[in-house]
Amino acid sequence: MQDWRDNVRRVTPYTPGEQPAGLHVVKLNTNENPYPPAPEVEEALCMAAGEAGMLRRYPDPEARELTSALAAFYELPADRIFVGVGSDDVLAMSFLTFFNGDKPLLFPDITYSFYEVWAGLFHIPFEKIPLDEQFRLRKEDYFRENGGIIFPNPNAPTGIGESLENIEEILRRNPGSVVIVDEAYVDFGAKSAVELTDRYDNLLVVQTFSKSRSLAGVRIGFAVGQPELIGALKNVKYSFNSYTMSRLAIKAGTAALKNRAYFEKTVEKVQATRAQAAAKLREFGFVFEDSQANFLFVTHPVWRAQKLYEDLRQENIYVRYFRQPRIDNYLRITIGTDEEMAKLYDFLAGYKG
Ligand code: PMP
Repeated sequence: MQDWRDNVRRVTPYTPGEQPAGLHVVKLNTNENPYPPAPEVEEALCMAAGEAGMLRRYPDPEARELTSALAAFYELPADRIFVGVGSDDVLAMSFLTFFNGDKPLLFPDITYSFYEVWAGLFHIPFEKIPLDEQFRLRKEDYFRENGGIIFPNPNAPTGIGESLENIEEILRRNPGSVVIVDEAYVDFGAKSAVELTDRYDNLLVVQTFSKSRSLAGVRIGFAVGQPELIGALKNVKYSFNSYTMSRLAIKAGTAALKNRAYFEKTVEKVQATRAQAAAKLREFGFVFEDSQANFLFVTHPVWRAQKLYEDLRQENIYVRYFRQPRIDNYLRITIGTDEEMAKLYDFLAGYKG
């Protein structure tokens, strides 16, 4: 007897961070921006509310308004940009589009855990390359046969940035593979590889509006690459779902790009709080590398990470704990406002472990 269960696609899904409902939560667990989006976003959404009748029409499948705004912001032609529903969508489409060989896709052992989930979902062979003892990527490990390469810069959850020289060398050694640099957190202090897309036809750089542009709730991500890569991505996307970017998302994203000064000021505020948090947490005895992202990845010689995570949670302070090899005594703490961080320091000042 045939059993439909034999034909179900079995996957182990990605576990997103908790999204607690209460208002009195100090939410330092999913790397959102603690500041609101640029005021232009609210204006654009209010205007859109006045034109709700337009919602009966499908959005522009190419999201040209948003793509052109991105093209202007990054001084690139529009045919070098692809947009999607958060960078998760852009990354998933990229896995589906570019990683179809028999050789393994390479990514670090400690990295964004969604990579392994997409590899599983799309039946892509992969190999996890261990970071060194200091959680740094060794570029030489990527100088070998592979079916593609992906890593975040700065890496997540470590927050450690990679130099453009190292990235360029990985590109130069892998002209036959698509190399994806996931720049979800790049605006907080690492150097973007977007400029390298002028010279490398195998490079795809992926960014998001969820972090530095405070729009995690709208879901916008994008990729930059040469027109051939972007065209291939579009073909796969249009074979899947043409209308992924809603009219409201296109409006909000376009508006967010209008105010460069606000964007820069917000990033600077997060960086200043990060520097202060690093000093404070080191005073409490935490040990960690400097971060180029909007979070710190910390461990403590005495306090066990899992217990501290649970004790913080009891007090409505949410941070991220990963029960995974090599990092199960670490916590990832998103940089919040100064007031939110002060609540964390107050808790730690009275903590006995
Ligand atoms: N890449 C990395 C490294 C991330 O940490 C995240 C956030 N979870 C994403 C991509 C996806 O972010 P989004 O889909 O909100 O753009």
